[in-house]
Amino acid sequence: MRKWLAMSMDTELQKHYALLLGVGSPWEVKTVELKLPEKKVEIELGWQWGQSASCPECGRACALHDCAPERTWRHLDTMQFTTLIRARTPRANCPEHGVKTIQVPWAAPQGRFTLLFERFAVDVLLASASVSQACALLGISWDTAHEIMRRAVARGLEQRQLEGLKYLGMDEKNFKRGQSYITLLTDLEQSRVLDVVEERTRQAADQLWTTLSPAQKQAVEAVAVDMWEPFIQTIQQQVPTADVVHDKFHVSKYLGEAVDQVRRQEHKELLAQGDETLTGTRQLWLYNPQNFSPAQVEEFAALKDQQLKVARAWAAKELFSKFWEYREEGWARRFFKQWYGWVSRSRLKPVVAVAQMLKRHLANLLTYLRHHITNAVTEGLNSKIQSLKAAARGFRNFQNYRTRILFFCGKLNLYPL
Ligand SMILES: [Zn+2]
Repeated sequence: MRKWLAMSMDTELQKHYALLLGVGSPWEVKTVELKLPEKKVEIELGWQWGQSASCPECGRACALHDCAPERTWRHLDTMQFTTLIRARTPRANCPEHGVKTIQVPWAAPQGRFTLLFERFAVDVLLASASVSQACALLGISWDTAHEIMRRAVARGLEQRQLEGLKYLGMDEKNFKRGQSYITLLTDLEQSRVLDVVEERTRQAADQLWTTLSPAQKQAVEAVAVDMWEPFIQTIQQQVPTADVVHDKFHVSKYLGEAVDQVRRQEHKELLAQGDETLTGTRQLWLYNPQNFSPAQVEEFAALKDQQLKVARAWAAKELFSKFWEYREEGWARRFFKQWYGWVSRSRLKPVVAVAQMLKRHLANLLTYLRHHITNAVTEGLNSKIQSLKAAARGFRNFQNYRTRILFFCGKLNLYPL
């Protein structure tokens, strides 16, 4: 009686696991082994002999040749018990393709995890603050996490839709602390990274475009980019019908740096005369007055009224922001001419230098009025990428970094099911 009960329980358990795994004939659960001290459940799957096996190349039903040596896959835990699947996978004897190991329904061809586990791991990785945290939650190593991310990204890239891309951004980013750069191509409308390459060169930028088909490139209307020659050249060559739009945030950054240079120089001159007027004022000249505290507003108002060079540099920068508000190209041109004349007369060398650069690129500043695109999206993604980098144990190689950027910022369908 007792023996019969045990057997029936076993059969029930086997059915239960078959249902959980989603496997059916000709696969069956042969044994379920509970290893209490190791907190493990091991499920052995077996193939019902006599069934034909499909060739993984052509799908033809073939005779069974033999079974491959046993392999193990990690599955979703069962009540905190690590759950493993063991099976010997049949090898089909295809008249055309020869002896081939068949595709199992619960895992990807080279995967060491079941598809359900990979799906869950992708969710945990996306929700975790860091990859290390996800590793701890999943009980997997850093390398294993990367393997899962790599496969997820490969799947996502294969299915990705790139039709109707209209506005793109090209930008650079530091990689490995100042020594080297990466270049990013982004979809500004959907806020996603399309691809990443190592280096910041004309050649690297050219390589980025291989992500798109000729028809997809044809559809691009404009690309937001910094005033950097190799980037401008690659856009003109690869997407000749698209407008180059110089990014207003980069322009603002150049002007901000010019203001800071003027302040540093003037501060040095004043200090030489024992004048501390500019001590501790760096932030005031760089930040948006809208974010000032009441005390800072007062301090800044007093500073602005003095005959300071830095105050004139700051005013030049503030005034330029009006340029982006024009709707008519003619008015914007007129404004620029006035602004340029005024800056030239100011003889503030760093500001004049930026003004000259803007004048050289005026045609591609005016395109902003038509498209209103900026790299703000890319900048936003940059900070996300930065946090990935900070949260990681360093990127030993560029491919790992690319995988991670596309995993978290590519808006890909990462799921295996
Ligand atoms: Zn075949």
